[in-house]
Amino acid sequence: MLYYSTNRQVPPVTLREAVITGLAADHGLFMPGRIGRLDDAFFSQLGQLSFPEIAFRVAQLFFGEDIPEEELRTITAETLSFDCPVVRVTEHIWSLELFHGPTLAFKDVGARFMARMLRYFLRGSHKPVTVLVATSGDTGSAVANGFLGVEGIHVVVLYPSGKVSDIQEKQFTTLGRNITALEINGTFDDCQRLVKTAFRDEHLREKLTLTSANSINVARFLPQAFYYFNAVARLQEAGALQGRELVIAVPSGNFGNLTAGLFAREAGLPVGRFIAANNRNDVVFQYLLSGHYAPRPSVETIANAMDVGTPSNFARILDLYGHDWKKISTLMSGFRIDDKEIKETIRRVFDQTGYLCDPHGACGYAALEAQLKEGETGLFLETAHPAKFTPTMEEILGKGEVPLPPRLAAFMEGEKNAVKMDSHFPEFRKWLSDNCR
Ligand SMILES: *Cc1c(COP(=O)(O)O)cnc(C)c1O
Repeated sequence: MLYYSTNRQVPPVTLREAVITGLAADHGLFMPGRIGRLDDAFFSQLGQLSFPEIAFRVAQLFFGEDIPEEELRTITAETLSFDCPVVRVTEHIWSLELFHGPTLAFKDVGARFMARMLRYFLRGSHKPVTVLVATSGDTGSAVANGFLGVEGIHVVVLYPSGKVSDIQEKQFTTLGRNITALEINGTFDDCQRLVKTAFRDEHLREKLTLTSANSINVARFLPQAFYYFNAVARLQEAGALQGRELVIAVPSGNFGNLTAGLFAREAGLPVGRFIAANNRNDVVFQYLLSGHYAPRPSVETIANAMDVGTPSNFARILDLYGHDWKKISTLMSGFRIDDKEIKETIRRVFDQTGYLCDPHGACGYAALEAQLKEGETGLFLETAHPAKFTPTMEEILGKGEVPLPPRLAAFMEGEKNAVKMDSHFPEFRKWLSDNCR
């Protein structure tokens, strides 16, 4: 299948090229030329299929023309070394727990899949690839761990100094080997801008093979459709959907996760509508209300992985629906919540149900609480384990309520190793030129 650019200024490219280059030459985002639909036979037996089988069928739909079946089966199976279960929180609200992977956040799914797909496409090639990734916390850890030790790939993680939690920082600054962390004196948007500018830089493009592992990469964001289908299967199995319409609330920052949900819907996912849950960084919320899209600098919140002022995947949503605001605003509604309300939600859900939401998942839960109607079943994406935000969680719930999972504790043992850098492009450019090949 060919992938076109949302800016449509360059000819479509193959999947291999889309994955290796990350961003189109006209600075647009790649879109699959066609979205197939899963057939009735698939949906009629969905509740009986296992997660790996469901994921493989969805992977085949997106990537089956470009990757041999056995290879795709291996990539998918290796990616899903963990489950993404649904857990009932209240009578009609369920949590889709996406934190059972190695770095305890949903990005493990996309990052692990992309690392394996890139490994497949680079097989037999002798030119190393440099993966650039800007992170507000969880992307860096998921990508660094997903790519750790993969031959021929050097990962460079850019993160805003002092704006990610200790545990997040440890997950990508302690690994060594083919992973380098750059501690940027700036915001997440600065990091993202440095990465985007590097891709546009002629000199760097000539010298290095640069790719991105942010959710702009199709190999990272599309696999996130897997767990939406699996969630429906598990909800069906649990009898939670009989005659009820499904509403999915997605805590959103760069909108990769929600966009994958929209692609899943195009492929046949039985979902009534989505809710885009924002923290105070609410440009999409404002767009959905007014039809006017006005990106602006991000502000800091306690749901820091959603502190994005210019959500990169929004271009994909606009393209998918032909920039039709009416259509987009019927498929999804917006929701916005501030830090105080996030804290209140975490406290209330814990007191009333015993369920622990992390600050991001809490935005999704609150969105359902506010907007779920009679006859609907709500599912919110619990995008990270609460223990990744221990200081915030302890401030809300008191000490000792959030046990640290052993695989998270293990990261804290490592020694931090990061290169400090200003947010000015020339310095970053020189570093790349000197340290990558
Ligand atoms: C990255 C992240 C988000 C935002 O996801 P997008 O795909 O960028 O919208 C939400 N929650 C957590 C915990 C994250 O790490």
